[in-house]
Amino acid sequence: MNYSFTLKIQQLIVFFLLLTMNIAFAQTKIEGLLYLNKKPVSVEIKDGKIVSVQQIAKLSNESHPVYIAPGLIDNQVNGFAGVSFCLAGGELNKEGIQKVTSELWKKGVTTYFPTLTTNSQEVLFKNFATLAKSKNDEALNGSIAGYHLEGPYISPEDGYRGAHPLKFVRKPDWKEFMELYEASGRNILTVTIAPELDGAMEFIRKCTTMGITVAIGHHNASKAIVDQAVLNGARIATHLGNGCANMINRHNNPLWSQLANNQLMASIICDGFHLRDEEIAVFYKVKGPEKTIITSDVTSFATLPPGEYKNEDGETIELTKEGMLRYPAQNVLYGSASPISIGVIHIMNVTGCTLGDAIQMASTNPAKLYGLTDRGTIAPGKRADLILFELSDSELVIKKTYVNGKLVYNASK
Ligand SMILES: [Zn+2]
Repeated sequence: MNYSFTLKIQQLIVFFLLLTMNIAFAQTKIEGLLYLNKKPVSVEIKDGKIVSVQQIAKLSNESHPVYIAPGLIDNQVNGFAGVSFCLAGGELNKEGIQKVTSELWKKGVTTYFPTLTTNSQEVLFKNFATLAKSKNDEALNGSIAGYHLEGPYISPEDGYRGAHPLKFVRKPDWKEFMELYEASGRNILTVTIAPELDGAMEFIRKCTTMGITVAIGHHNASKAIVDQAVLNGARIATHLGNGCANMINRHNNPLWSQLANNQLMASIICDGFHLRDEEIAVFYKVKGPEKTIITSDVTSFATLPPGEYKNEDGETIELTKEGMLRYPAQNVLYGSASPISIGVIHIMNVTGCTLGDAIQMASTNPAKLYGLTDRGTIAPGKRADLILFELSDSELVIKKTYVNGKLVYNASK
């Protein structure tokens, strides 16, 4: 009697163990309306990858239909949710990087580029080294692809320089850049540079040879120089229409030349403040969904309540209740407070483009540009970076976010 009872208990334990193992290794199926055609699909994932994508007759839960799309990819994140990547005093740490990452998951961003802007060599070096140490932390789940260095090799002119501090703006310096590159663990994937500076063309050529994507921005280059920069390998204009003076020559200005160059892509900030609707409409008409990237230029002030804050240098930064981030001292914008989940809806509202086009500009295009061949679309073999969301008038309302096949955000929990 006793023996048989023990046997049954053992059998039960084995049964439950097998069941648990089965759950752990089971393939997961995720349903949603495919972002490209709004048809119901079932996406099967296993070991962090997409195994299959199948059209189905209807969703299991038709009362709460959600869309499914590849996770968003943001190439310009200066900080988020109170954490800045540009901290000068060595305060950037592992916990801060984890916080940015998990807060961005809530906005559907599954890959992003921490962005360091114009600063001293010492601060850039230190923060790149801190980022490099954390890049492969398990807690980040592979969400950081690499880094964006915006500046310090940009135009010193007011307006073109934007909010970058003049005291740290300098000419391209390959030796310095290589030191930063090494400090980053060779993970600087892209650099924004002003192509008219002494030594910029050689700098662009060297970066291109190394596989670092060159962007031009915060510049006042002539058409000839823009075209030359593209011939030397520059691929994209950083936040087109911003990092530009208010007063420009109506014939000779960087907007026309960057729009007119067919090889040059453009990133645009679609937060409703950086560009007028008609600017977005024209940029989109010229570049189209193939050559446009939606970026955020988002800063540490995103998700904070409206009010006045101090930046690293003790200067006042104002976050309005509408979500505009201002640098009152120079009457310029100070980056953005809106993640690209807002930009996706804003560009749809302004241009009338489809959800498929908007997601292409916020995921597929950046994946292609930066050689992230394992993401940016929903297809067998791709990394299972997926978002489930509803649409609102102003943003993608994220319900679930998967990174590398792991559910990293669930709005209902
Ligand atoms: Zn900028």
